[in-house]
Amino acid sequence: MIGGMEHRDLTDLLILQERDMQIVKLQRSLKAIPEQRTQLMQRAKDREKALLAARKAAQEHELSIKQIELEVKSKEALLAKLKIQQMETRKNDEYLAFASQIDTTASLIGDLETQQLELMERQPALQEAEQAARQRFEAARTSLKEQLAKFDAASERDGALVKQLLEERKALRAKVEPELLATYESIGKSRGLPVVIELPDDGVCPGCNMQVTEDVRGKVLIKLEVERCPNCGRILR
Ligand SMILES: [Zn+2]
Repeated sequence: MIGGMEHRDLTDLLILQERDMQIVKLQRSLKAIPEQRTQLMQRAKDREKALLAARKAAQEHELSIKQIELEVKSKEALLAKLKIQQMETRKNDEYLAFASQIDTTASLIGDLETQQLELMERQPALQEAEQAARQRFEAARTSLKEQLAKFDAASERDGALVKQLLEERKALRAKVEPELLATYESIGKSRGLPVVIELPDDGVCPGCNMQVTEDVRGKVLIKLEVERCPNCGRILR
């Protein structure tokens, strides 16, 4: 029991506590905003990185196809030249040597063309991957813009509200009996809110989950005096 205080004295304290809980909740969500901002910005950055990687992969692939194309062209030119040289020679051994070079070159061209076909078959998948990465990046960028604007609005609104509630709190605090206020603030600091809690019929304190004595339970039930939980010190009602 606190200094012979009567149960009805809790009314103003309960109003104060409600205001305090509102303030704590708002302050907590304000405090979480920078971290949420960072996360969103990181996500947009990650998506941008993914897009750049997909774009690079598609470009490198395209370049490989072009390089093979150039190699095929140069080998075809060589082949044409070898064929002319073969026709022009009168020596049998030279003729056979050209024939062998022609075979090798033709077979190289065949291999290159197969490679090129394989690369070309994989190209649409890479282009689709780039397109998908672009869409994901753009979606993240749009949502980032919207979310940041929301955060700015929430910061401003809740910041102003907290200021106003803290101002109101001063007036509410002045109404509470000093000894009760001191108990409330000290328990609030060490255990957190709520400090004033309703004791259920089973007599188990919701603050610490311990059973209060029959004596305390009885006193709380008749709502005459302000009692505290013998274990956690919270104010019972
Ligand atoms: Zn307790």
